[in-house]
Amino acid sequence: MRRSLSLYEDLTAVEGLDFGFQRNGLVSMFRTEAFADSVVTTSRLLDEFGIRVEVLDRSGVARLAPSMSDEVLGGAYFPEDAHLDPAAFVEQLAARFSASGGSILTLTDVLKLRAGTRGRVLVETAAGERNAQLVVLAAGAWSAGIARDLKLRLPIEPGKGYSLTLPIDGGPAGVPIRMLEANTTYTPTAHSIRLTSKMDLVGFDLTIDRNRVSGMAPAARRYLKLDHDFGTATAWAGLRPLTPDGVPIVGRHPHLTGLILATGHGQLGVALAPVTGWLVAQLATNQPSELDLKPLELQRFEGVRSR
Ligand SMILES: Cc1cc2nc3c(=O)[nH]c(=O)nc-3n(C[C@H](O)[C@H](O)[C@H](O)COP(=O)(O)OP(=O)(O)OC[C@H]3O[C@@H](n4cnc5c(N)ncnc54)[C@H](O)[C@@H]3O)c2cc1C
Repeated sequence: MRRSLSLYEDLTAVEGLDFGFQRNGLVSMFRTEAFADSVVTTSRLLDEFGIRVEVLDRSGVARLAPSMSDEVLGGAYFPEDAHLDPAAFVEQLAARFSASGGSILTLTDVLKLRAGTRGRVLVETAAGERNAQLVVLAAGAWSAGIARDLKLRLPIEPGKGYSLTLPIDGGPAGVPIRMLEANTTYTPTAHSIRLTSKMDLVGFDLTIDRNRVSGMAPAARRYLKLDHDFGTATAWAGLRPLTPDGVPIVGRHPHLTGLILATGHGQLGVALAPVTGWLVAQLATNQPSELDLKPLELQRFEGVRSR
């Protein structure tokens, strides 16, 4: 996570990409005593890993989040945390890649991957077949379906979540707020405020279920005095690629040497995107990895079948 943060800083400060990256920290808050204990336990655990957390009482939360409601009992502050605009990040990266001579085939489905000769993988797309020297499978929740013909069982399930984004007039970006019982995050930026929530296990259905979305703003108002009308907000649904142990799958396929897996990032794909790209670059160029990749290997799952 720390490596990702420093890579994000490089992408903005050194590469000059602008995707709303802000290192303002994050505040979590709770309304019920049951969560007071879990905040303390989590902060002790994170402390062991050198991650700074300050446990806050009511007045400490109010200092960082003045719009806090009367129901909030306490929380925690994660000063090292950051946030960004994910869509702008992808657009900026794609533009830089194209400007550097890379070519991106958009609106073209990969139908399946097939085993070729000498460890290579053939990519069957809606626009014909490609015989690539190296394929990186990074198709999020859809990765398992694409890999099926390789007799590769990727234990990834889609976890559907929603966001509600409301444009606002410019202002300084505040601190993102995690509302613990409601499992909802509030992210203010210079031009919008966004609520994200829900974890629905409903397969690949990306339709917006208005019943699910309509409860998000009322749930957030139990923590924050929000006077915005979320009825006019843009609703979006996305699929988190969930693995059974919540850890991504990153590494070379054990037999198909022309295939690198970079998927299953669950709830942390934005946070872990730069470090994943960095690891994939090391794998692709056959450099020794600077991190231990063993915990990320696909082989950690029992019963995984591979060729
Ligand atoms: C509501 C919500 C809130 C979230 N909040 C956070 C957060 O605060 N922090 C965080 O770190 N993460 C967050 N996440 C999780 C994060 O979005 C994911 O972990 C991340 O998007 C996974 O990245 P990915 O590139 O592996 O997959 P994706 O982002 O899903 O990208 C996969 C891409 O592959 C494409 N694709 C799929 N099938 C095919 C095919 N057959 N042919 C061609 N292309 C294909 C898709 O169109 C898509 O563009 C959130 C997710 C949701 C839904």
